[in-house]
Amino acid sequence: AAWERRVRSSARVRSRPGHSVLVTGAAGFVGMHVSIALKRRGDGVLGLDNFNGYYDQTLKRARQGMLERTGVFVVEGDINDKELLKKLFDVVSFTHVLHLAAQAGVRYAIQNPSSYVHSNIAGFVNLLEVCKSANPQPAIVWASSSSVYGLNSKLPFSEKDRTDNPASLYAATKKAGEEIAHTYNHIYGLSITGLRFFTVYGPWGRPDMAYYFFTKDILNRRPITIFEAPGHGSVARDFTFIDDVVKGCIAALDTAKKSTGSGGKKKGPAQLRIYNLGNTSPVPVSDLVSILEKHLKVKAIRKVQPMPRNGDVRFTHANISLAQKELGYKPTTDLEAGLKKFVRWYLSYYPDAKKKSAWDFEVLDCIS
Ligand code: NAD
Repeated sequence: AAWERRVRSSARVRSRPGHSVLVTGAAGFVGMHVSIALKRRGDGVLGLDNFNGYYDQTLKRARQGMLERTGVFVVEGDINDKELLKKLFDVVSFTHVLHLAAQAGVRYAIQNPSSYVHSNIAGFVNLLEVCKSANPQPAIVWASSSSVYGLNSKLPFSEKDRTDNPASLYAATKKAGEEIAHTYNHIYGLSITGLRFFTVYGPWGRPDMAYYFFTKDILNRRPITIFEAPGHGSVARDFTFIDDVVKGCIAALDTAKKSTGSGGKKKGPAQLRIYNLGNTSPVPVSDLVSILEKHLKVKAIRKVQPMPRNGDVRFTHANISLAQKELGYKPTTDLEAGLKKFVRWYLSYYPDAKKKSAWDFEVLDCIS
């Protein structure tokens, strides 16, 4: 009963009727930020996360602390647990599901292929099955990925470009998610919006991502490896700041049309959409390192190596005109400003990080 009270209270709408959102992966990087932003504007928000050990669980628990301080309760459980999901839908009539829970990361799939199938395919289907049977059916917004563009897509990537050459198992499972979304929209009238995120970074970010572990390694005077594509220079990414992605997610939730149910045809087709959420300005990883050096005031020990064939692609670059037109999405933070915020957060979250390399700060003041 106490559990149910917490669930209800977290999902209770304060000032936005018709906005009761279940956020899966809420203790994750993007999940924490969007949940807090939704709660602050008055939506009802309930989190769900299995707190898996893919990366530092202490960080996930710290994010949970941030969520709880904002009034967001995070239920601990797996999206594959149908009974749990049904119970949540029995207690709350969610109008929206923001589905961010997934096994992320490209290289981890080489050793752990089944966790991608478990979370990104089986878990997604399980969630859609529960949404399909819920009354009312919620509108679903979920995270796909820029990785669906694969190896040979032309730049910049637009939504209508080919996505039939995934470079990693991660990309293949995100692509599979898009096909599964199509099926559930077509047969059951579910409203589903997929967002292809492009390398999201920022405070409370993911320790498995380059900008994050580069920061740690630079501060610890450990060498960092920058991959180069022979003949193309450093690998480049369309780094997108978390606040911009949060705005994009919220705009997608606000524009999502209600589901029409299995008798969908009579009421007109339910919405099926896919949008790029990128920054439209790719930056070589070598430049990212220079910006980190400047903000950290520590020089990196760089090792340049040819790109191995491990699932990474050389470049990403989003064309965002569709999201701009239909969601009003407009990124406003460039990498320099966004990394400054990240570094400030990193040094406050790890207060000892700076001490370790205190001597570097004097020696290398010249590079700022
Ligand atoms: P994250 O790993 O920080 O967050 C995902 C959260 O989901 C984690 O807290 C994890 O514990 C939880 N989770 C994983 N499997 C689960 C399961 N089976 N049941 C319940 N919870 C589960 O990742 P993120 O960076 O916040 O990414 C959010 C979403 O965006 C993911 O779907 C990811 O694939 C996608 N995405 C992220 C990026 C990026 O650059 N961060 C880029 C493209 C796509």
